[in-house]
Amino acid sequence: PSADAPIIIIGSGLAGYGLARELRKHDTDTPLIIITADDGRAYSKPMLSTGFTKNQDADALAQKDAGSIGEDLNASVWTHTRVTAIDTVAQTVSTGDAQTQVHYKKLVLALGAEVIRPPIGGDGQDYIYAVNDLLDYDDFRKAVANNNAKKICIIGGGLIGCEFTNDLINGGLEVETVDPLGYCLPTLLPEAAGKAVQAALEEKGATFHFGPLVTEVNKADKGVAVTLNSGDTLSCDLVLSAVGVRPQTALAKSAGIKVNRGIVTNRLLETSAPNVYAMGDCAEVAGHVLVYVAPLMAQARALAKTLSGEATEVSYPAMPVTIKTPACPVCVAPPAADAKGSWQVEQDGNNVVARFVDTATGDLLGFALTGEGTKQKMALQKQLPAIMP
Ligand code: FAD
Repeated sequence: PSADAPIIIIGSGLAGYGLARELRKHDTDTPLIIITADDGRAYSKPMLSTGFTKNQDADALAQKDAGSIGEDLNASVWTHTRVTAIDTVAQTVSTGDAQTQVHYKKLVLALGAEVIRPPIGGDGQDYIYAVNDLLDYDDFRKAVANNNAKKICIIGGGLIGCEFTNDLINGGLEVETVDPLGYCLPTLLPEAAGKAVQAALEEKGATFHFGPLVTEVNKADKGVAVTLNSGDTLSCDLVLSAVGVRPQTALAKSAGIKVNRGIVTNRLLETSAPNVYAMGDCAEVAGHVLVYVAPLMAQARALAKTLSGEATEVSYPAMPVTIKTPACPVCVAPPAADAKGSWQVEQDGNNVVARFVDTATGDLLGFALTGEGTKQKMALQKQLPAIMP
């Protein structure tokens, strides 16, 4: 490709737009194209699970349209355009029907993550929603209104499932949440903290079914019947599936780019193909898949410098995650998967301070805080090791 070929970013989420903003701080005029399968509106994805509390529809959550972002960033934003193939030798991307091919000088994959859809039988599939972007949120809100829904069954009691449980209750809906594990946020929190969140949400009116899997969703006289493998059946108006996300890797894989859990990169965010980078929810950076905002902001700052000629590795400090369950606020810094230690729990009602402490040295390696315990966040965060120094 010629030297004046553009930088192309695929994806207009917090990663893609975040990188574009950082890049323009260093380089105001390299041609920049942002290609997105959605409508290109800028929005803060974490706000999707606070929309019923605030009674905000999708338009209210959208911050800017693609046209004004293009002007702000001196970029061309191609909306409703799906990239279907990448030729890493010719350095081109193909869109839609593969008729259009565009050269890139540098290509950044900011493709996000896809929702995991658990295998569920039955004839009520059209009543099962998942909210992973602004358009999904718009669909779900409209479905709640059009079906005059009063009661929602949420599949999954993890981060997204618990946030929506709290948010929908705040919005005046009745909620029953099903999770095969034993308590709220089971993969992030020790039991005492997860049970504190559960108790607080139950006080607000939530009902949890821990242990069973949802096997079928079938149409009923009114709404749907949700069958659990425990033999129980729940009746509700709509189902919200929130069992988790996985990095989008298919496009990279089909282009011969190395993928593992995510699109594999080094700390420069370089993939296995020359001049192709990956960041945000789709990326596995030096072994870390972290589907949160703080890591992608760190990546955007580093990659913007790299693309402007100053090669810069990304570093991750400790990055505690705040979970938006106002009934019982949660802040968690999970220990590394290979950390050797144990949880030390102090509890007063729904207020928990759990420290994950190194067995050998006594060093703090992680924490989980709920309720009033979250006030200790700053003090404990200072003691944590960096995730990737
Ligand atoms: P996305 O926003 O998913 O963007 C991906 C983009 O790629 C989209 O524009 C899509 O159209 C485009 N795309 C994909 N494939 C193609 C293709 N082939 N061609 C063209 N375009 C393509 N994180 C936190 O840190 N704190 C929170 O409180 C928090 N709350 C959350 C609440 C909810 C309900 C959800 C769903 C997530 C939450 N997260 C939170 C996670 C956080 O929002 C994500 O980590 C972050 O938004 C991911 O941004 P991204 O740009 O990588 O992906």
